[in-house]
Amino acid sequence: AAMVEQGAASWPPPDVDTDDCLREYRHLFSPDILAGQVAFITGGGSGIGFRIAEIFMRHGCRTVIASRNLQRVSEASKKLVAATGQQCLPLSVDVRQPQTIVAAVDEALKEFKRIDILINGAAGNFLCPASALSFNAFKTVIDIDTIGTFNTSKVLFEKYFRDHGGVIVNITATLSYRGQALQVHAGTAKAAIDAMTRHLAVEWGRNNIRVNSLAPGPITGTEGYRRLGGRFAEEASQFDMIPLGRAGNKTEIAHSTLYLASCLSSYVTGTTLVVDGGSWLTSANNFPAMLDFWAAGANKNQ
Ligand code: NAP
Repeated sequence: AAMVEQGAASWPPPDVDTDDCLREYRHLFSPDILAGQVAFITGGGSGIGFRIAEIFMRHGCRTVIASRNLQRVSEASKKLVAATGQQCLPLSVDVRQPQTIVAAVDEALKEFKRIDILINGAAGNFLCPASALSFNAFKTVIDIDTIGTFNTSKVLFEKYFRDHGGVIVNITATLSYRGQALQVHAGTAKAAIDAMTRHLAVEWGRNNIRVNSLAPGPITGTEGYRRLGGRFAEEASQFDMIPLGRAGNKTEIAHSTLYLASCLSSYVTGTTLVVDGGSWLTSANNFPAMLDFWAAGANKNQ
């Protein structure tokens, strides 16, 4: 038997920081765990959603990746197909507009005849103190994250999951757990999604629909990381505060999402899986320091 090195259970798998597929991949789960299935992934053209699509496809799944920018999802789809040999249908949706979701789900069902998994990954975020946040900015984040998640879940329920069962994974965040500074909009929006997860798990369980949230911590190689001051935190050694001593990567989020979307979690519903290296328990939440960072405009230069 091969020697197992110590501590390997908390080693990160390799990743790449751009929106490209992994150069190499070693299966940890069974390679056919999602064979024959179809996943509908909002926000699947970039960042975490892109990597979720890739990892699912590497496990036998066909995917639909949907977001506003059709060119972005089309280019992403080409990369995903080339790397995995699976089918990937890129579609344009704005999760704030239910009719665009209805049209996309109709097209996906026409193409694949089934949808087994919904990943609600579409979101918008930026740093801003409540005192400087416009009414419209707050509303926009609630519209995309919270209402968008409801809209997409409801369309999938009516069009397919009600009669065939399904799995929903909502990508949320830990922002509200300790009232993260400069994040009242996203923290509120994601907390509401975690509540929605429990409500829908209760109402839809008898339809064989499982509904769970996955809350990532700081994840490298993402828009979220760049925009929310990830590199600044890195330079200030803030990740030393995290129990596991590092930020996470997109493949780690994709692996945990694969667990929640697959039969490995067949008895798990209505819960939030926090995938953050223990970050929210110990990380700094210093309002005056964050305000200085924001005022210096660092988030505007990205
Ligand atoms: P990202 O690449 O910016 O992903 C967001 C995606 O949502 C984009 O592909 C965007 O595509 C899509 N989107 C935005 N508005 C939309 C709309 N109205 N309708 C449809 N699609 C829309 O960011 P990410 O950092 O990878 O984040 C992915 C998810 O993880 C988000 O839910 C985020 O809140 C969560 N998260 C991330 C981190 C992190 O460290 N990165 C931490 C905690 C939670 P278009 O522009 O083409 O629409």
